[in-house]
Amino acid sequence: MRIAMIGTGYVGLVSGACFADFGHRVTCVDLDDNKIAALQRGEIPIFEPGLEALVAENVKAGRLDFTTDISPAVGKADAVFIAVGTPSRRGDGHADLSYVYAAARDIAAALQGFTVVITKSTVPVGTGDEVERLIRETNPGADVAVASNPEFLREGAAIRDFKFPDRIVVGTSDERARKVLGEIYRPLSLNQGPVMYTARRTAELIKYAANAFLATKITFINEIADLAEKVGADVQEVARGIGMDNRIGAKFLHAGPGFGGSCFPKDTRALVKIALDHEVPLRIVEAVLAVNDNRKRAMARKVYHALGDQLRGKTVAVLGLTFKPDTDDMREAPSIPLVTGLLDMGAKVRAFDPVGMEQAKHELPDITYCEDAYACAKDADALVIVTEWVQFRALDLGRLKREMKQAIVVDLRNVYRPEEMAEHGFAYHSIGRPGQG
Ligand code: NAD
Repeated sequence: MRIAMIGTGYVGLVSGACFADFGHRVTCVDLDDNKIAALQRGEIPIFEPGLEALVAENVKAGRLDFTTDISPAVGKADAVFIAVGTPSRRGDGHADLSYVYAAARDIAAALQGFTVVITKSTVPVGTGDEVERLIRETNPGADVAVASNPEFLREGAAIRDFKFPDRIVVGTSDERARKVLGEIYRPLSLNQGPVMYTARRTAELIKYAANAFLATKITFINEIADLAEKVGADVQEVARGIGMDNRIGAKFLHAGPGFGGSCFPKDTRALVKIALDHEVPLRIVEAVLAVNDNRKRAMARKVYHALGDQLRGKTVAVLGLTFKPDTDDMREAPSIPLVTGLLDMGAKVRAFDPVGMEQAKHELPDITYCEDAYACAKDADALVIVTEWVQFRALDLGRLKREMKQAIVVDLRNVYRPEEMAEHGFAYHSIGRPGQG
């Protein structure tokens, strides 16, 4: 199959490289000249484990290339995927569909022969209808089917998730489109990746419902963590105890500083808006958003309390800035409200992140960036673990303590055990465990 991938970001680049790896011939298109020029030189603009090698191999094999010129890529394609961004629209929280619609118009003008246009971006219910209308309006003679194929990969594990998905959702009622998508994903049937065919609008809703459900799970355990702190219980054991129940499942029950990232916040906001437009308020999802926003803001106060209700003139070391490990993505990272809150309360902030510091500098320009965890801890009054990078899981605690001015650690990811921190003489504060707070 010949595939054109429109939008070469986290999803487009990973999907394009994986499709090429399945044996398809893929052209990744982007408006961003710098991004495409970098990819043509063999440089990967994002951090994603394994991606550089996968791209290099498939470019070398002649199955993958990059361009800013959409017309030839679309003209030759059997399938055109739209994988452009759908950020929150400024002001109201609706998904901003301007990139999707612009891509649809550009695609329409370049179509030749029967082509399936597939929305991989996360889009509100009914967007496929509008994409189809725009294409037919721009190019009335086009022989086209428009399908939905939402993407469920996670940054940091994106290639694995793409190649070994729990499921692939294909939304279309067009037989020819089903056949093309069945062929594109056929190599995955060897990995037992089940393809679920459904209606286009249902596919669009599945993606939002999945993200809202996962965000709800995280927020639920975060609230249980707050209660655990008050009643002297251990949230990690509670999570284990409920997660062993198959009806609940163990994943997404790790208490922490609140969810962030490029998807959950914007997608839950968009779902709430879609529901309100249809006069079906989703009160649970509304509550999840409100609780999570408050939680992210409250993390700076947790540090303030750990320092005896005093932050002015104190130095706080922050380990981890990206919204999760193994990515350089800073979108809506919990570190942003945390650091901003610390600065507002008069603290000086030093920070280290293994790969996210270049991105972080755009969001957090007024802090000191350090070259490793120990340099970051130097003369700090408190150290806060914000992202659970593997590099922070086995720190030399003796050395850390020697670097610090005061031995206070606030561990927002429960990476360490309270007993080991006590043995090393730290005042240790974590999430939802007895004697913390
Ligand atoms: P991104 O911002 O990393 O990439 C989007 C790319 O599209 C950018 O490089 C941009 O320059 C390009 N672009 C915009 N308009 C274009 C056009 N008209 N023609 C060509 N290129 C264009 O976004 P992302 O994180 O890859 O997300 C893409 C979509 O996938 C979003 O809807 C997102 O919600 C969804 N999604 C993301 C993830 C994730 O983990 N990042 C997971 C699942 C789904």
